[in-house]
Amino acid sequence: MEALVYHGAGKRAWEEKPNPRILDPKDVILKMSKTTICGTDLHIMKGDVPTVTDGRILGHEGTGIVEEAGPAVSNFKVGEKVMLSCITACGTCSACKKGMYSHCENGGWILGNTIDGTQAEYVRIPYADTSLYHFPPNVDEEALVMVSDILPTGFECGVINGQVQPGDVIAIVGSGPIGLSALLTSQFFSPSEIIMIDMDENRLKIAKTFGATKVVGKNAVEEVMKLTGGRGVDVAIEAVGIPATFDICQSIIAPGGHIANIGVHGKSVELHLEKLWSHNITLRTRLVDTVTAPMLLKTVASGKLQPEKLITHHFQLCDVMQAYDTFGNAAKENALKVLLTNE
Ligand SMILES: [Zn+2]
Ligand SMILES: [Zn+2]
Repeated sequence: MEALVYHGAGKRAWEEKPNPRILDPKDVILKMSKTTICGTDLHIMKGDVPTVTDGRILGHEGTGIVEEAGPAVSNFKVGEKVMLSCITACGTCSACKKGMYSHCENGGWILGNTIDGTQAEYVRIPYADTSLYHFPPNVDEEALVMVSDILPTGFECGVINGQVQPGDVIAIVGSGPIGLSALLTSQFFSPSEIIMIDMDENRLKIAKTFGATKVVGKNAVEEVMKLTGGRGVDVAIEAVGIPATFDICQSIIAPGGHIANIGVHGKSVELHLEKLWSHNITLRTRLVDTVTAPMLLKTVASGKLQPEKLITHHFQLCDVMQAYDTFGNAAKENALKVLLTNE
């Protein structure tokens, strides 16, 4: 088969690899149907994720058809279409029993990280019974690809951890696919104001069509304080992963507010306890567990959520090298999610 292979920082190739085989009775082999490229893959390409080593097939999102199922797999049959989760859950370890699949002792985020991933014609999915999902009837397959990772990430790490309540004034720092996923799912809880912050005008324009009530570009702190009458926001969601955007969250949080971090940080940040120690705030972090995927699948199937709106570009899987170039120049290309189809 052919696959997108990482060869160290800055180096990737679309090349021949052996087909994956069943290694454990709980494995499934999927023929990939649709996949995408994640911001995390760009971090990997920069060399920011040392667990990813030379020769690894990247990718941790998508849909596929069961090609082969190990003898211990009971929920899925050969020929069935399935959605995969970016998080592999064994279902039996102590982390899984708490619903904290991201820290599964036998899985977690391993696809396209410590085992071969989904930007390939075929992929091996361990613990298939607890890591795959059936297709809901009459659902847009491209929308399901967004439930593999970005939708639960925006919802769990941003909205749930931010404890968004009806009537809250919230701000989301970063209007990329993850920030926009938080924007979409925050509306389950009817905040009164959703302020989107980004330096990219085009992304702010999109945010408005997704339900942002206010958008802010430059001088974010000043502008947000002006918009909130000097009070700040009840919830600040960080969806970028650099010190400057974390600083914005600390500067705009109102007393009693919640800061929820989603961004993948490569550098340490300064925590301003000299101001925040008396402000009754909470700061929460999380790696997505995808425990909300079953609920999100229902909202997508009903049409309440339309995450396919995040897809701006389509490519054939064999053109994934070009798709990386497009996604890597997101601002210039006006790219959000790029959808790859294996035909
Ligand atoms: Zn991802
Ligand atoms: Zn587990």
